[in-house]
Amino acid sequence: MPTLNIPAPPSFATVEAERQHRKERMAATFRLFSKLGFDEGVAGHVTARDPELTDHFWVNPFGMHFGHIRVSDLILCDHDGAVVEGDHAVNRAAFAIHSQVHAARPDVIAAAHTHSLHGKAFSTLGRLLDPLTQDACAFYGDHGLFDDYTGVVLDVEEGKRIAHALGEHKAVILRNHGLLTVGRSVDEAAWWFVTMERSCQAQLLAMAAGDPISIEHDMALLTSTQVGSSLGGWFSFQPLYQRILREQPDLLE
Ligand SMILES: [Zn+2]
Repeated sequence: MPTLNIPAPPSFATVEAERQHRKERMAATFRLFSKLGFDEGVAGHVTARDPELTDHFWVNPFGMHFGHIRVSDLILCDHDGAVVEGDHAVNRAAFAIHSQVHAARPDVIAAAHTHSLHGKAFSTLGRLLDPLTQDACAFYGDHGLFDDYTGVVLDVEEGKRIAHALGEHKAVILRNHGLLTVGRSVDEAAWWFVTMERSCQAQLLAMAAGDPISIEHDMALLTSTQVGSSLGGWFSFQPLYQRILREQPDLLE
């Protein structure tokens, strides 16, 4: 029998290797998010928990375009919001939201949030995604709604409320704001973001065109186990990583 090469999540001999890997996946995620048009000025952040200092997280430098971010540009932020590695500032909203998500969810390695167009358009409806498509079933029973808007999130108390709305789910819709996704790897959080944004787009298109038919409960539940697992999320990101790395290898610098 030939050996079939199917990508599998890596394991690491040292925390240094694991840290480097997370940072590489983050830089790739920013490049990809830029390519997909998820950037909007200085808005948006992706964070990854440090594998050694587990109450610290890596984040994008405030004010740097997603499309330019390299591994060496990422900054390390402690649990008080101080930058302890790197020479850029952290976005206060990034700290306020992500520090509380990482604190509330020890299983979460990475979190992604941007002001992507269809996510923020859908967020104004103040409702959850319907199981309209196979892909949208990844979020069936597995996303929350932060049904409030009180200005730019600058306070960790607001971050706590967002973490509460996220609950044990993989994603939360922030009303009048946008989407936030989490994962047990950077890859997974990034994939959920990409596919949630597209699921919002699909539902908006379908609702604009007519009266869409939802997948029935039992089938949506079954499909959620087929397309919504942590491993499935990780796996789905691999082709996107391969593509962006081949196009923009300087992201590893
Ligand atoms: Zn935001």
